[in-house]
Amino acid sequence: MNFNNTIELAQSLDQADELKSYRDQFIFPQHSGKDTYYFTGNSLGLQPRKAQQYILEELEDWGKYGVEGHFLARRNWFGYHHFLTDKAAKIVGAKTAEVAVMNTLSVNLNLLMVSFYRPVTKRTKIIMEAAAFPSDHYAVQQQVRFHGLNPSEHIILLHPRDGEYCIRTEDILAQIEENKDGLALVMLGGVNYYTGQFFDLQTITEKVHQVGAIAGYDLAHAAGNIVLKLHDWNVDFACWCSYKYLNSGPGGVASIFVHEKHGNNPDLPRFAGWWGNEEKDRFLMKSEFIPAIGANGWQQSNAQIFSMAAHLASLELFEAAGMDKLRHKSETLTGYLEQLIHYIPQIKIITPTAPNERGCQLSLIALDRPKDLFKFLQNHGIITDWREPDVIRVAPVPMYNRFEDCWILAESIKEFYS
Ligand SMILES: *Cc1c(COP(=O)(O)O)cnc(C)c1O
Repeated sequence: MNFNNTIELAQSLDQADELKSYRDQFIFPQHSGKDTYYFTGNSLGLQPRKAQQYILEELEDWGKYGVEGHFLARRNWFGYHHFLTDKAAKIVGAKTAEVAVMNTLSVNLNLLMVSFYRPVTKRTKIIMEAAAFPSDHYAVQQQVRFHGLNPSEHIILLHPRDGEYCIRTEDILAQIEENKDGLALVMLGGVNYYTGQFFDLQTITEKVHQVGAIAGYDLAHAAGNIVLKLHDWNVDFACWCSYKYLNSGPGGVASIFVHEKHGNNPDLPRFAGWWGNEEKDRFLMKSEFIPAIGANGWQQSNAQIFSMAAHLASLELFEAAGMDKLRHKSETLTGYLEQLIHYIPQIKIITPTAPNERGCQLSLIALDRPKDLFKFLQNHGIITDWREPDVIRVAPVPMYNRFEDCWILAESIKEFYS
């Protein structure tokens, strides 16, 4: 990018942005009567305007049809997930049958580990990031305990090298190699929530399989942010939430990916509920569980209609915009913000510099009065996110953030330190 740091440049980049109209599809929280500069789409994405309409339609059909809405609602509740699956699958590079929209993220991570972490042989160990999201630590630890094993002996934590913030791929591969005989599972956050580092899932998955283990990923910060190719990369399983980059509302319905090589195996142990049964027999009320083919065979309960209605509103926007275009804009937008912030001496960016090692988020360490800076930004209508002990995360989201937003953020940081 030919770099000149003016608001005019930012505005002309916005003018030229072919995705610029998507911003109008979202509702922005207000500050002093104006749209906020919203940089926390990595934490809770904004509300698509259509979400309210779609939820109201379900309330209306519930009122109109009662129980018969399972079949008569304009989007029938019995098969509601089918309205979502192909769109969700495109976002993560999966076949439709490899994805099921269901439950919430931590629940799904536990359900998937029931199937994919089975330490019945000498393979008992799990490799994960030392700085993983707390829910992932808890889930992994309890799965290990559930099998009567001691977490401190069976969980291997990946650390960055001294003085570094991100974990090198070569170090991950070396850990896999070192533990190759006892390794059951590698479970990483696809994009680390704290540093914003994107792990090279393709290379890591290949290595995991080479040593005979399973590769599963929590894609909470990757889905809708990075172009993923879960099927082609041969990932065994994955799960993600819908309320971060996927803009589907607080506590929104989550999704799973199960590669077809596993999804088509009915003998794979799993926990079950009636919604995971073969669909044609679901309402026959038989006592024998016959898992549906594909990821649907992991479903437990009947569909969370209201939350799925909001998800549908968002997935339609992702389908219309396309992940490739979103990602293309994202690399430019985050690169632009990085250049602006790079010149501020009080700020250190700990997210990797290479575009293929990160999503849209930049994690900033403010060397001087960090908490005051965070509050200053907040008071100026710039919404960022504070993570203990000292990181401010900012995520310019390609779906609705502008180059101008980035310019304002950088100028405001400079103003704070001037
Ligand atoms: C956001 C996030 C979660 C949150 O889990 P919920 O079950 O949706 O509350 C879990 N893991 C990771 C990596 C996350 O980023």
